[in-house]
Amino acid sequence: MRGRAAGWFAPAILAVGLAAGGGWLAGQDTRSETSLPVEHVDHGANSAAARKAHYVVLVSLDGFRWDYAKRDGATHLLEIGKEGVWAPEGMLPSFPSLTFPNHYTIVTGLYPEHHGLVANSFYDPAKQARYAISDAKAVTDGSWYSGVPLWSLAESQGMRTACMFWPGSEAEIAGYRPTYYAHYDDKISEEARVAQVLEWLKLPEEERPHLITLYFSEPDHEGHEFGPDAEQTRTAVRKVDGLVGKLKAGLDASKLPVDLVVVSDHGMTKVDGGWVTLDQFADLNGFETAGALLYGKTEADRERVYTALKKAAPEFKVYRRRNVPGELRYSENEREGDPVVIATGPYAIRARGPEAGKPDKAPTAGAHGYDPALMPEMKASFFAEGVDLLPGHTVLPFENVNLYPWLAHMLGLRAPKTDGSLNVLAGTLRDDGAETAQ
Ligand code: AMP
Ligand code: ZN
Ligand code: ZN
Repeated sequence: MRGRAAGWFAPAILAVGLAAGGGWLAGQDTRSETSLPVEHVDHGANSAAARKAHYVVLVSLDGFRWDYAKRDGATHLLEIGKEGVWAPEGMLPSFPSLTFPNHYTIVTGLYPEHHGLVANSFYDPAKQARYAISDAKAVTDGSWYSGVPLWSLAESQGMRTACMFWPGSEAEIAGYRPTYYAHYDDKISEEARVAQVLEWLKLPEEERPHLITLYFSEPDHEGHEFGPDAEQTRTAVRKVDGLVGKLKAGLDASKLPVDLVVVSDHGMTKVDGGWVTLDQFADLNGFETAGALLYGKTEADRERVYTALKKAAPEFKVYRRRNVPGELRYSENEREGDPVVIATGPYAIRARGPEAGKPDKAPTAGAHGYDPALMPEMKASFFAEGVDLLPGHTVLPFENVNLYPWLAHMLGLRAPKTDGSLNVLAGTLRDDGAETAQ
């Protein structure tokens, strides 16, 4: 299969300077040598059909709660919403409302238990191995991921893609990697990320990616450290809004037929109280654990810990995995553990404390991961504007699994069946998608 297997990785062939991105505005090509390490996998040129397709720039603002834009006067985002489509009451993340599960849901249309990233860190009883977002070996190993990410779908249909970071983009999944991608590095400035996206759009038509993802780490960091209502978080909200404004100006100047879609993965809430540590209520001897996830090895162990935790504390409920409420979509994957503990409020829950002799750290001021139905603070953001979208549309809160068929439609791609449906957002499209609605 084209582009499969080892694929060769040339060092960055693309260039970006921090001054780039203003190129169109200044009427000149600012391509220059880069310090941004971009990987290039040669999948050949865009097909003739792909060259005729529109461009989608999919932006994620990590932890940008649904109400931040209005609250903090994020003028560029609000303008995009006004000129295009907006979810003023937010978009519903999938459970758990964490970064990797939701980013990967957005690009696969699958609930976490169907795409496999059921948390940021988890254990797989069948593999007898652990996945963690801080473990580069796991993150780049495609065997952890199911589904067909949008970039793999596009590449398989002759369309080139690029990821300026996105969970999953560093692994070969469903036979492909993005044609251009970068290894995650928090220290790469958000300005440089925007500049790289605009550089990609200046490539010759044959090489120019039609789907581009862009990930901003803010305002999630500030939300955790200082809490959602802190001045630092509000400043970060305005900062990323300014960057979206710069991106939008660059896209407008390109004169390309683009759809700009800005989403977030989840919201943020203020944490209430200190740690709730499960092994204070139940003997977890013999259990693998990851965060608050519990992996009982035998049926007797699972039942014993379930019984011990059942009436242990008001901060959580516990279920045998098969009995987790259906709305949570958290009962079908062994990686979810058994029994399953679900917070009843904004509490910091963990299976175990630090190892003996190691210092403990208080929970962060802000957190997420909770059930969005229980906690509206978990709701994410959604703004979109572009050539395929009707102006001045608002949509009611919708589940983020529905983005995938909608994005695939805008790119002219044939999408596989997923947990999402094109019907949910079809009303926002100039061409209502009736022909391809699932
Ligand atoms: P959380 O907000 O707790 O769900 O985790 C978010 C963390 O994921 C942030 O600290 C980010 O720096 C980190 N992160 C985001 N994207 C990636 C990525 N592609 N690879 C590794 N870590 C990432
Ligand atoms: Zn996040
Ligand atoms: Zn976070």
